[in-house]
Amino acid sequence: MEPTISVRALSKQYGRATVLDRVDTEIGPGVTGLLGPNGAGKTTLLRCLATTLAPDSGRIRVLGLDPATAAQRTEIRRRLGYLPQDPGHYPHFTAFELVDYVAILKEHTDRRARHREVRRVLAEVDLADRSRTKVRKLSGGMRQRLALAQALLGEPELLILDEPTVGLDPEQRMRFRALVSRLGESRTVLLSTHQTEDVAALCERVVVVNRGRVVFEGTPRQIAEQAAGQVWLSEEAPGAAARMFWRTADGRYRTLGDPPRHAVPADPTVEDGYLLLLGEPSEVAA
Ligand code: ADP
Repeated sequence: MEPTISVRALSKQYGRATVLDRVDTEIGPGVTGLLGPNGAGKTTLLRCLATTLAPDSGRIRVLGLDPATAAQRTEIRRRLGYLPQDPGHYPHFTAFELVDYVAILKEHTDRRARHREVRRVLAEVDLADRSRTKVRKLSGGMRQRLALAQALLGEPELLILDEPTVGLDPEQRMRFRALVSRLGESRTVLLSTHQTEDVAALCERVVVVNRGRVVFEGTPRQIAEQAAGQVWLSEEAPGAAARMFWRTADGRYRTLGDPPRHAVPADPTVEDGYLLLLGEPSEVAA
């Protein structure tokens, strides 16, 4: 079966900075995480896929369509749900009015059918009882779900979500993840994040990008396995030779790489594998 998204040798520069450097990847149904540090190129890649930015070179297919041609680009836009990083909020609209406004832009012309669809997506994100609430009175978590409701109009078979969990508190994040998991059961969801917990909790597959390149593709378990045999716990702080270590909640030190003195091995997590993949020496949030 053809993947929902396929990308070959995709490159994008801003001035002299190479932001995407010959990216190759394929994304299929289910939830895939695009994981990378700030500035890695995640938003740029998602914009190219969502057809809001043209790459300099390379080949993209989204839902079997080529965004480089005008007619196919329009068709992608019709069939795609996109949650950009800073979705516009119109504070004086009610939740219903905002989603209805977007539905009009999305060519839902029949008023009754459109209102039915607006009610459906509000229910899907658990905001049915807030439809008359002004956007400015909604919490951050509710606003994020409202933005997601807009992306769900017309039941798109592909959802692209740019950093959807940023700014959510732990309870809101858990709820948002459960919602996205459910949405991924019947479609392709590609979401970007810089948080390994999102990936571990929610994604079946993960594509790690760093400095504009894909540095890893696989399951969260496979990322964790990258760190097998290289994770250590010790009571004492490791010596100067250690490149990556941090203090854990129980007061012990977690070291990646060579074992410090008197250390015991620990099971690797997605975070361990990810930090080793990025390979930058850092004392992480000591
Ligand atoms: P991420 O989403 O992973 O944080 P971005 O795709 O937003 O990364 O950005 C990647 C790099 O491209 C960053 O160094 C950023 O400063 C740069 N960049 C992004 N957009 C522009 C732009 N419009 N003009 C110039 N540089 C940009």
